[in-house]
Amino acid sequence: MSRKFAAFVATGVAVAIVIGSLLALALGHTRQPKPAAATTQTSTTPSATPSVTPTETPSLSAPPSTPRRPAPDPTAALATGNKKVLFLSFDDGPDPYWTPKVLQILAKHGAHATFFELGAMQSAHPGLREQVLAAGNTIGSHSITHPQLTAISAAKRHHEIFDGPKSTCFRPPYGASNPKVRADIKAAGMVQVLWDVDPRDWARPGTQAIAHNILTHAHNHNIILMHDGGGDRSQTVAALDKVLPILKAQGYTFPAMNCSSGL
Ligand SMILES: [Zn+2]
Repeated sequence: MSRKFAAFVATGVAVAIVIGSLLALALGHTRQPKPAAATTQTSTTPSATPSVTPTETPSLSAPPSTPRRPAPDPTAALATGNKKVLFLSFDDGPDPYWTPKVLQILAKHGAHATFFELGAMQSAHPGLREQVLAAGNTIGSHSITHPQLTAISAAKRHHEIFDGPKSTCFRPPYGASNPKVRADIKAAGMVQVLWDVDPRDWARPGTQAIAHNILTHAHNHNIILMHDGGGDRSQTVAALDKVLPILKAQGYTFPAMNCSSGL
């Protein structure tokens, strides 16, 4: 091989590498998932506690040809202007004992909420879903059996997301998400909904602690995470009864998110 030819080959290889890298970069870029409008994190939200779900970095690189329109942000239309609103949300139900108690407290204070239900709980306790909806609340999907969606096979993940409760809103169990989870949620015609304030009611820290956490951290347009399933929720119910009149006195209203469940 002449030196000239070797140099020519070397140059060719280098050019190929550069083009290849650029292509890989470009492809990687376009493959980046669209930010879930979903997180509905408001820019004014101070990240008060470490338990607040990490905000996804908004990316401007939406794929040029999105095959399906994702469901709209379920809080956007409700959280406009200076109107003070908080979005209450309850996970892991419906529970035959605790869900009606939560509904009773919400009704007592003229508040509504969004219930992120499990398919398995809906099947085990028929009729509760209808009760939740009849009271003016909305329902989101929280999968079928509450697995960590980032740690299971693609087939299982797909089943948990596509075959769970019917809704346009989806909250991944444990808030555990990644590009694959988000892609499945979007392909299923749903939008990912996380939360802003987590008073850790599931750990039963005491009614006072739950109430204090909510009152300290809740800011306008925030989504608050609580539970109506998964065990004894007496502290959650008592804390809800305590904070709602205080927040109401501060001017807040409590609309349910726009999560259509196809009814
Ligand atoms: Zn959950």
